[in-house]
Amino acid sequence: MSGATDEEALTESARKLFAGPVAFLKSAPELRFLPDPTLPEIAFAGRSNVGKSSLLNRLTGRNGLARTSNTPGRTQELNIFDVGDPPVLRLVDMPGYGFAKAPKDLARRWRYLVNDYLRGRAVLKRTLLLIDGRHGVKEVDREVMKMLDDAAVGYRIVLTKADKVKPTELAEIERSTAEEARRHPAAFPEILATSSETGAGMEMLRSAVLEAAQL
Ligand code: GDP
Repeated sequence: MSGATDEEALTESARKLFAGPVAFLKSAPELRFLPDPTLPEIAFAGRSNVGKSSLLNRLTGRNGLARTSNTPGRTQELNIFDVGDPPVLRLVDMPGYGFAKAPKDLARRWRYLVNDYLRGRAVLKRTLLLIDGRHGVKEVDREVMKMLDDAAVGYRIVLTKADKVKPTELAEIERSTAEEARRHPAAFPEILATSSETGAGMEMLRSAVLEAAQL
């Protein structure tokens, strides 16, 4: 019996993987604190308050795994999570960007850390760039898209908080975001719309992570 398509098989593997252990490994304020590059890494980036912690928690089915960091002065670190036991891939939670009141040197430190990571980490397979589904791509997101393009790190745009917008508005945001993505060489053309509130899009997101890790 089989008959399962590759896509169904991927969905099922992804479901199983994320139903299993996911554990915080460490925080890395600089590249030299990262674990040995033995596993594929998938990074998550987004403006602060975009819903990144909520998404990581919902994705992994673990409340409190990723904590919100809504304080602009906070240390800028990459938070690393092992997925699977033994681990088969790592999730990397990048510090949020775009604080309105962030001091200049914080923005500069963010840029150094993220650029170093994007350019110097061979095991980084893909970045998921979170964009607020209510507003679409903002100027500050464009700057990060440019960084990803320049570092030649492939990325997928994930719209967050899809439950907060009417379906017609969401469709319009998806359309304009896809149009924007087409102008960026490292961006994937398909946009994933998600809600950490309802769980919408999570199955696709899990599959996208597993697929990106090329397991
Ligand atoms: P982060 O700063 O990117 O980690 O953002 P958080 O995960 O802390 O979310 C910021 C705010 O948005 C919080 O008040 C969350 O409850 C809310 N939020 C996050 N995701 C969703 C979502 O999918 N739907 C709704 N309605 N609210 C969300």
